[in-house]
Amino acid sequence: MIMIPHIAKTISRKNISKNALKVLYRLNKAGYEAYLVGGGVRDLLLGQKPKDFDITTNATPEQMIRLFRNCRLVGRRFILAHIVFGSEIIEVATFRGDNLIEEYKDHYKKLQFNNNGMLLNDNIFGKIEDDAYRRDITINSLYYSMTDLSVRDYVGGLSDLKKGIIRLIGDPETRYREDPVRMLRVTRFAAKLNMSIAPETAEPIPRLALLLHNIPPSRLFEESLKLFQTGYSYLTYCKLCEYKLFQLLFPTLANNFTIGGDSIIERMLIQIFKNTDNRIKNHMRVNPVFLFAAMFWYPQLKSADIIAQKNSNSLTYYDAFLIAINSTLEEACQVLAIPKRITALVKDIWKLQLYMSSIYGKKAKKLILHPKFRVAYDLLILRAKVEKNPELIKLSKNLNQHQTSLLKQKSTIITKISNTTFLCGNNII
Ligand code: ATP
Ligand code: MG
Repeated sequence: MIMIPHIAKTISRKNISKNALKVLYRLNKAGYEAYLVGGGVRDLLLGQKPKDFDITTNATPEQMIRLFRNCRLVGRRFILAHIVFGSEIIEVATFRGDNLIEEYKDHYKKLQFNNNGMLLNDNIFGKIEDDAYRRDITINSLYYSMTDLSVRDYVGGLSDLKKGIIRLIGDPETRYREDPVRMLRVTRFAAKLNMSIAPETAEPIPRLALLLHNIPPSRLFEESLKLFQTGYSYLTYCKLCEYKLFQLLFPTLANNFTIGGDSIIERMLIQIFKNTDNRIKNHMRVNPVFLFAAMFWYPQLKSADIIAQKNSNSLTYYDAFLIAINSTLEEACQVLAIPKRITALVKDIWKLQLYMSSIYGKKAKKLILHPKFRVAYDLLILRAKVEKNPELIKLSKNLNQHQTSLLKQKSTIITKISNTTFLCGNNII
């Protein structure tokens, strides 16, 4: 173990959430060991602002419930304590281990693996050293203590952080089999931190990518948002393709990939991810509805065309388009489960693409008032850009003019109302 004392000088405590500090102090005061760990320490050492703060301790979940009134226990595969401070939740995990340790004998449940070596139950507590080896990559396994302001490193994380290397802890194949999502995490961190993946960590990924099929589709959906909505989606997409992971998550899209990489679907994906990253850089909101509506727009169009052609005598194009929606979304949800609340809005946005192309004048104004118009309009602009289609470019310009004039009208009405209120106020006085 390498212990770097007083590393706190390079860590600005101002960058640590006050609530995380409170939890650390309270645990230490009660006599427990407690450390900041994971992305929090990694990002602080890189001089970046952490996204969230994870804490690990030798206190058991039951002991934490007694210590914190605002504590609730969550999770099945890992039991975690959530200490709730309004909208901020500090996640606290008891040190994990894989050796049975006497002092935790009340909590032991045998580790369970499925036929592929996947860990089904990981609720065995351990010592800090065990915990360090159970984490995914070396740079995510650094422990920062408030008692002596030091960082503890059991797995070579500090050296990898300096060299810019993403390295899985332990034997990579075993660790991927235990939890195949680690393959996605490796590529995500390599993209986010602009680091290289150690050769032995990278090698098994394309071979084991298929194991992702064993992950519950709902977990894969959550992971996909981390992959594509946290500011580094373009680079992440490139890495996912390189390691054959994108092909596994989105087979319907990847079936259309070409050797030149210039199919309309590939051009669309690149544009979506570049736009999303730009929005996040400019502190604009990103929306999973837009993400999935845009990713699957061209497969939807292709399938609508096929259905319309096959049934040209019996179906209108609109009917074919509606039938295609269900099959496209069903295929999209094969590997990762996009929740119904999202697919319902994706359908609206796709239907709006059709309405937008066939509507003029007064009806266009009505369409602009549709609650999902803005998202649908953004998709239209993206399509125009990807296709370099003059008709779509003209249409998006027209709709934009309608929007601007409508906004002007609205602001005149608001000014009129506020002037009237002002006058009324004066009259009363
Ligand atoms: P960020 O929050 O910036 O995306 P992070 O490293 O904090 O990155 P989290 O998902 O918040 O990632 O997880 C917190 C820590 O828990 C990780 O740093 C890692 O040590 C550990 N961890 C998370 N997922 C796994 C996993 N699948 N296998 C092993 N350890 C994991
Ligand atoms: Mg985190």
